[in-house]
Amino acid sequence: MALELIFPDGSAHSFPEGTTVKAVADSISNSLSKKAVAGKLDGALIDLNLPITESGAVEIVTKDSDDGLRVLWQTGAFVLAAALKELYPNIHFGQGAAIEDGFYYDTDREDGQVSEDDLETIAQRMQKLVKANAALKPVTLSRAEAFEMFKNDPYKKQLVEAAGDPIQGYQLGDFVDFESGVLAPSISVLNHFSLLSVAGAYWQGKSSNPMLQRIYATAYYKEADLQADEIRRQEARDRDHRNIGRDLDLFFVDPEVGAGLPYWMPNGATVRRTIERYIVDKEVADGYQHVYTPVLANLDLYKTSGHWDHYREDMFPPMDMGDGEMLELRPMNCPSHIQIYKHHIRSYRELPLRIAELGMMHRYEKSGALSGLQRVREMTLNDGHTFVALDQVQEEFKKILALIMDVYKDFNINDYTFRLSYRDPANTDKYFADDEMWERSQTMLKGAMDDMGLDYYEAEGEAAFYGPKLDIQTKTALGNEETMSTIQLDFMLPERFELSYVGNDGQEHRPVMIHRGIVGTMERFISYLIEMYKGAFPTWLAPTQAVLIPVNLDLHMDYVKDIQQKMIDAGLRVRVDDRNEKMGYKIREAQTQKVPYTVVVGDKEMADAAVSVRKYGEANAEEEAANMFIDSVVADVKNYSRN
Ligand code: ATP
Ligand code: ZN
Repeated sequence: MALELIFPDGSAHSFPEGTTVKAVADSISNSLSKKAVAGKLDGALIDLNLPITESGAVEIVTKDSDDGLRVLWQTGAFVLAAALKELYPNIHFGQGAAIEDGFYYDTDREDGQVSEDDLETIAQRMQKLVKANAALKPVTLSRAEAFEMFKNDPYKKQLVEAAGDPIQGYQLGDFVDFESGVLAPSISVLNHFSLLSVAGAYWQGKSSNPMLQRIYATAYYKEADLQADEIRRQEARDRDHRNIGRDLDLFFVDPEVGAGLPYWMPNGATVRRTIERYIVDKEVADGYQHVYTPVLANLDLYKTSGHWDHYREDMFPPMDMGDGEMLELRPMNCPSHIQIYKHHIRSYRELPLRIAELGMMHRYEKSGALSGLQRVREMTLNDGHTFVALDQVQEEFKKILALIMDVYKDFNINDYTFRLSYRDPANTDKYFADDEMWERSQTMLKGAMDDMGLDYYEAEGEAAFYGPKLDIQTKTALGNEETMSTIQLDFMLPERFELSYVGNDGQEHRPVMIHRGIVGTMERFISYLIEMYKGAFPTWLAPTQAVLIPVNLDLHMDYVKDIQQKMIDAGLRVRVDDRNEKMGYKIREAQTQKVPYTVVVGDKEMADAAVSVRKYGEANAEEEAANMFIDSVVADVKNYSRN
């Protein structure tokens, strides 16, 4: 029976049974065929040289495509395993796979685990395999054959169980593996690879399972691409907020004490306190009423809110108090703010009613997903909820958005985009049932964006179940997109908690609730800032804003202390370096600690009532009148300046 293959341009072509992707590529062009490493049938990767089994949409996967890289990385994972097997014959393998920037393989050795010291040896063995250019042969194994083959491999056996029957794998010499997916026709493509690191990884990601050693690697078709990747990784390491957090003594997380539960050291706490004060002041000035509410509440609260039914897997298990009461650590602050709203009878005159809090919440994130301050289990959200009448939605939305953009300016966040999410018009029954509410509010949000002259992307079907929303997407220093702020309309919680206000008609009405976050959690936001600034915070945020260094501890100390006191009185954070160290050493250290101003004082400065000031990152110091200098630092802070 002939195959009917649809090409990416939409044209249909007939090919005889048994046709391979390679043959299809040959039929199109020689140059395409040369670049081909695999194919895709209806979106799924298939081997270049195996017969295409059914009709469908076919694509040629070439070296210069993302899929081509994926095939290379899958091939890399296979070769890595083959080399490991040669080097350590009794090694056991867990999973191996391509990931977004390379590949990995999980290993378990009975006699000493693989470590980073072994990477060089492993790389050499891989190179040897690649040079030998042995044929890479697709093989089909029945489940029984696979069981027999991997009978001494505890993890592989489980993977065989989970795989289909038969299993498609590959063979290189004596080595057979089926784990990594579709491979290139020859391992000779693996000319430019690099083994990166070894890290512990629980078998199947569960902390109750054995810990395997995961070997990370990457590869490219061209040496230049591999080198560019290395530069990117180095940049990522330099910016990694976990490294900077350690170097600048900002925070730590100790899994022995509690994974995902950060400790803020004085330096990090200072940055955080500065941001918290800033944001609370901003919100209070914008009409928010700031509150404090407990992190614990009766579980019933989260049953009413729906979190217990829909969000349970992200919640910590309830605490059974032994007297029938169940207490729950909150995963979100909304139900708490609803309690504040409900505590009084509300009148239409109070709306929009704006409640805000730096609300601490707990989420039981998977241990493998935890990362520094970026993803934690205890976090404090710059949270706020405003309660409005339906006809106030548009104005309130604009006001919130203006506040967000104002805050972004102060933090120098300029690269962001708007995403407006609506319900899916084809599936309205998946959403909270109030068509009028949806229609009006979506129109209001869109109208507000248009009135404000902002560009936005409209995402149908991306709304929450309970209402439409606007997300503000920023780019991290490494180019990843992240939701920084969000404004979400909610029709459901007011219904569930039976919220009401007395209208000017004397009747009870249901308010609409707007959830909004400006800078997100302190944890995520500060990890973002650390990476954006590479730890060199602008003066208003820096833990230490200036270090004062006397040239001579005996002669200049009084003068330095005098300047320090003036700066403290002006509200600045300033430290005197009075250690018995060389001056050059002290200056260098102030630079590695990324202190915005390093100030040196000797005879000349003292005589002139001046200071010698070196700005962070600049090579030279300049003399300035001491009072002028202090005024300029105060101005930096006041203006949230970039300095
Ligand atoms: P994510 O998709 O990242 O898990 P989310 O969509 O669940 O986040 P929301 O419930 O909207 O997040 O929470 C609001 C904000 O809380 C997010 O924008 C983010 O800044 C922050 N946040 C969420 N989870 C964490 C976490 N585990 N650690 C640190 N911050 C978090
Ligand atoms: Zn909320």
